[in-house]
Amino acid sequence: MRSVHMKLVMILVLLILSLMTVVGAFLINSVTAFYLEEFYTQMADVFGNQELYNDLTAQSQGEAGDAEQIAEVLKAYSGALGVDNRNRKLYILDSNGNCLIYPEGETGKLEYTKNLSFALTTGLETNQAGDESNPALNYMDVAVPIQRGDNSYIIYIYDNKATEDNLTEQMFTLIIEALIFGVIISVLLSFLLSKTMVTPIQQLTEGAMRVAEGDFSRTIKVASRDEIGVLTDTFNDMARQLQDTLRQVENERNKLDTLFLHMTDGVVAFSREGSVIHSNPAAARMLRRRIDEESTYQELFGDIVPLEQVLQTPDHLEGERQVRDSFLQLLLAPFDRGREGGGALVVIHDVTEQRKNQEMQREFVANVSHELRTPLTNIRSYAETLTEGAGDISPAMEKKFLSVILGESDRMTHIVQDLLTLSRFDSGRDDLKLARFSFSSALQDLYNAVYMEAQRHNHTLRLDVPTQLPDIVADRERILQVMMNIVSNSIKYTPDGGHITISAGQTGSRVWMMVDDDGIGIPEEDRPRIFERFYRVDKARSRQSGGTGLGLSIAKEIMDRHKGALELLDKEGPGLAVRLELNIEGPEHG
Ligand code: ATP
Ligand code: MG
Repeated sequence: MRSVHMKLVMILVLLILSLMTVVGAFLINSVTAFYLEEFYTQMADVFGNQELYNDLTAQSQGEAGDAEQIAEVLKAYSGALGVDNRNRKLYILDSNGNCLIYPEGETGKLEYTKNLSFALTTGLETNQAGDESNPALNYMDVAVPIQRGDNSYIIYIYDNKATEDNLTEQMFTLIIEALIFGVIISVLLSFLLSKTMVTPIQQLTEGAMRVAEGDFSRTIKVASRDEIGVLTDTFNDMARQLQDTLRQVENERNKLDTLFLHMTDGVVAFSREGSVIHSNPAAARMLRRRIDEESTYQELFGDIVPLEQVLQTPDHLEGERQVRDSFLQLLLAPFDRGREGGGALVVIHDVTEQRKNQEMQREFVANVSHELRTPLTNIRSYAETLTEGAGDISPAMEKKFLSVILGESDRMTHIVQDLLTLSRFDSGRDDLKLARFSFSSALQDLYNAVYMEAQRHNHTLRLDVPTQLPDIVADRERILQVMMNIVSNSIKYTPDGGHITISAGQTGSRVWMMVDDDGIGIPEEDRPRIFERFYRVDKARSRQSGGTGLGLSIAKEIMDRHKGALELLDKEGPGLAVRLELNIEGPEHG
C-alpha cells in the first residue's frame, strides 16, 4: 500500500469506479425517468384521442355488455397502449370496483393501487383519471373513468416495469463489465506510468541513500525534463554542494585537530556542567596528569576561579599555577556554542622559560652593576686618596695608586667590551666575517700568544697538533678569541707549575681542538651553569685573577653561530678538559 505503484493503481481504480458509478447512476436514472414519462405520455395521447373517447362512450345495440364493448374498442388501440398482457395489462372495472374484464389468462387478482382507488372514488364523479406517476413504485399504472349512459366504468392499465427493469439490468451488467475492463486497463496503465514515474524516484532514492552513507562518487542520471528530472538535477546540485561543504568542514576540522594536537599551549574545553569536552596532549603534559572524560573543571582548575565566574565573564580571566618546577599561565574564557549551551575554554601557557629569562635578566643587571661598581669604587677611593693627600704621598706610592686606577679602568673597559659583544650577539647585529684560513696556523698563533703568560705561571704548555690539518671557513678573529679564553682559563685556574696541553685533529667534516689542564677543575654541580653570563665557580678567586665570568658565555655564542660545539669533557683526575668543534666548510655545511 505504501508504494507509489500501488497508490497509482488505487487512484486509477477509484477514478474508474467513481466515474462508472456516476455514469451508471445517471444512465439508469434517466432510463427510469424516460420510461415513466413515456408511459404517461402514451396514455395521455391515447385517452386524449377524441375519436377513441367517442367510441368508448357510444352505446351500441348489441347483446354484449358494456365492458366487452369497451375491451373491443380498446383492442384496436392495444398497440398504441403497449398492452401485451404480459408486462402491461388492461383491466376493466365497474364503478363498484369489481373487475369485469381481466387480461387473458388471469382471473381474480387485482391490486387496488393508489391511482385505481383515486379513479374509483373521486375520478368517477369528477371524470378525472388516476394518473399520478411515482418513480419510487415498482409499477406504473393509470386508471381512466368512462361514462357509458348511466353506468360508469374504469379502464385500468397496469405495467409491472419488467421491460425497464430488464434494460436497467442489462445496462448494469454493461457498466460492471466496463468497470472490470477499466480496472484491468488501469492496472496495466499503472505499470506503464509507474515505470516512467517510479523508476526515476527509485533512482533518486538510491542516490539519496548513497549520499546519506557518505558516497558522493556517482551523480544520478537525469532521464527526463519533467518535475522529477528537475528534482534529480537539484538533488545532484545539493549533493555536490554538500560534498564541498563536508570537505571544507573536514578540512577545517583536520586543521583544527592538527593545530590542537601540535600546539605548544595546552587547551581544555569544558561543558557548562564542568565536564571535559576536549583537551590536547599539551594540556595533560603541562598539568602532569591524565585528562579524560571523567575529569572535571572543579578538580582541574576549581582552585583558581570557580566555573560560574568564568562563564559569566564578558572577556577572559587569568590565573597562574605552578606544577613542580614549571610556571603555567592560565587564560579562562567562556565560549558560546549556540544550542549546545557553550562552556569554558582554558588555555595553558608555559611561562617557565619567560620567568627564567626574567630572572636571568634581573640577575644579569645586578651582576653588571656589581661588576662595574667594584672597579669604580676602587678608582674613586684611590683617586680620593691621591687628591686629599696631595704632596704627602711619595712619588712611588703615587705611581702605584695610578697604576691601580689604570688597571681598574682597563678592567671596566674589558667588561664593557664583553657586554657590548654579547649585546651585539643578542640583537643579531654581529655578522661573522667568514673566510678560509689555516686551522694549524691559528693554533700556532694561539700558542704563541699564550706562551709568555703560561711561562709566567711556570706551566708546561704543550701543542700537540698533527701536521696535516685542513683549512677551515670561519671568523678567524672570533675563533681565536674563543680559543684564547679557554687556554687563558686553564692558565688562570691551574695552580702555578701545572700542565696544559692543546691538542687538535679532524673527524669527518669537522675539526676539533681540546685544551686539557690539571688545575682546580669545575665541580659537577657547577658544570651545567658554566656557560651562563657572569657565572663563576669561585667569585672571589676569579675576580682576583681578573675574570668576569663572561668569557665562556661569549665563547658559547660564537661557537653556536658557527654551528660548532663547545663542551666540557668528563675526565679522570684533577683539572678540566674543554673541547670545541667546527665545520670545515663553515657554518652552513654541517
Ligand atoms: P673572563 O673569561 O670573562 O675573563 P672568567 O674566565 O672567570 O672571566 P669564564 O671564562 O666564563 O670566566 O669562565 C667561567 C668560570 O668557569 C670561571 O670563573 C671559573 O670558575 C671556571 N673555569 C673556567 N675554566 C676553568 C678551568 N680550566 N679550570 C677551572 N675552572 C675553570
Ligand atoms: Mg675566561
